[in-house]
Amino acid sequence: MDAEASPPSRSISTHLRSALRTCRWAWSHAAKLALDIALPTLCVSCREPVDGEGVCSGCWAKLSFIAPPYCPRLGIPFVYDPGPDMLSMEAIANPPAYARARAAVRYDDVARTLVHALKYQDRTDLAPAMGRWMARAGHELLDGADVLVPVPLHWRRAWSRRYNQSGALARIIERQTGVTVASDALRRIRPTQQQIGLSKPQRASNVQGAFKVSTLRQSQIAGRRVVLIDDVLTSGATVDACARALLRAKAAQVDVLVFARVVDSHKTPI
Ligand SMILES: [Zn+2]
Repeated sequence: MDAEASPPSRSISTHLRSALRTCRWAWSHAAKLALDIALPTLCVSCREPVDGEGVCSGCWAKLSFIAPPYCPRLGIPFVYDPGPDMLSMEAIANPPAYARARAAVRYDDVARTLVHALKYQDRTDLAPAMGRWMARAGHELLDGADVLVPVPLHWRRAWSRRYNQSGALARIIERQTGVTVASDALRRIRPTQQQIGLSKPQRASNVQGAFKVSTLRQSQIAGRRVVLIDDVLTSGATVDACARALLRAKAAQVDVLVFARVVDSHKTPI
């Protein structure tokens, strides 16, 4: 009825526009298909063609997923099971401000490639798999958690990098578990040097006092059980400084969940 009622010229131009749109869509679809055939997805680690995204089955098998037995406090893997509640030497000698830390994998070559691709090459397509592995590794922490807080970048670095990799991982964990992300709760109040190449004491002083809970977000933190999210745990100095800031803002408890952690060697419990 409407088409018959329209003036013929308008009807012709409408038809032409619609035909043109169809042509454009078909062309872009064909171009994308050609590109997909010409450029198959490559494994982010070994650059072999892979079905889907992320890593190939060979590289997946090379990832060292962390499973019990480990130190209940720091999550450092043990070579044998010392029984429940036995802590690692590190946890006793140098207890951190946070309660517990867990990691999905050891920081080795494949893990490093994934972390670098997410952080520096805009490979946000890797975040879903990495976040899912983290959610599995951190289920005890996440079960009782009220809020997820990603380790923030300083705004100058966030500006140059466009997004925060810890925030991208936190969003995936939020989707998996229903625990909400408070992405701007914690702020980096001064720029810090890259931690790479610094000694353990230098790392600690580099990040000391660098974080603060935003005044507007205190209510999201006070009395809450927080899980701090980061990509890599090396000396633990950054997450420790973040945990102190969250505890100063009256967080009930702070746990730490990372994608990969550095493990020097197989640690024996004391
Ligand atoms: Zn591979």
